[in-house]
Amino acid sequence: MSDGQQGDSISEELHWIVERDMEKCSLCEVCTKSCKTGALEARIDGNVITIFFRAELCDGCGLCVQRCPEEASILTRIDGPIYATSARILSTSNLLQCLGCGAFFAPIRKLENILRHHPGMELVTSLCPDCRRSRMVVEVIETKRDVEGPALHKTGRKWSWKPVLGDDDPDGPPCPKP
Ligand code: SF4
Ligand code: SF4
Repeated sequence: MSDGQQGDSISEELHWIVERDMEKCSLCEVCTKSCKTGALEARIDGNVITIFFRAELCDGCGLCVQRCPEEASILTRIDGPIYATSARILSTSNLLQCLGCGAFFAPIRKLENILRHHPGMELVTSLCPDCRRSRMVVEVIETKRDVEGPALHKTGRKWSWKPVLGDDDPDGPPCPKP
C-alpha cells in the first residue's frame, strides 16, 4: 500500500527499471520499437525527441537491452513494490533540420554516432532521407545526360536514356529534349 507520499503501489513484489548511458545512447529508437508492452516510448515535440520509460508497464523481458546497438540500455530488477505511475525521461536530443526542406528529421546524437562510425557521410547529416533521395535522382539524371546525351525518353512507366535519334533514323523522330 501507499506510504502516504507515493500513492498506491502497482506491484508489491518486484519491478524492473530501465536506465540509459547517455554518453552512448543515440536515440535510434531500436529499443522503443522492440518494446512490446509500451514501457518505452519515443515522443517528438517540435525539434526535440525524448524517450520515456514507464516502470509499471515493463515486464523485464530484456529485449531493449539485447537489441541496443550502442549497449546503452541497462535493465535492473528491483525487489520491492513500485509506486511510479508516470513516464520517466530516459534520454533526449534535439533534432537536426534538413538543409533542403527544413524538416526536423533525426536526433543530433544519432547523426554524431553515424559520423563517428562512418566519417565522410556529411550528406546524411545535412539532408533528410526524402531530400537525399531527390538529390540522388537528380545526380543520376545529370550524370546520364553528361554521358549519354540530352534526350530523355519515357518508355512505359520508366524513364530511360538514349542518344537523340536523327530525323532519318528508322526508329522514328527524335524525342523532345527535357
Ligand atoms: S538505448 Fe540503445 S536502442 Fe535505445 S535509443 Fe539509445 S542507442 Fe538506441
Ligand atoms: S525490458 Fe522489455 S518490457 Fe521492459 S522496457 Fe525493455 S523491452 Fe520493454
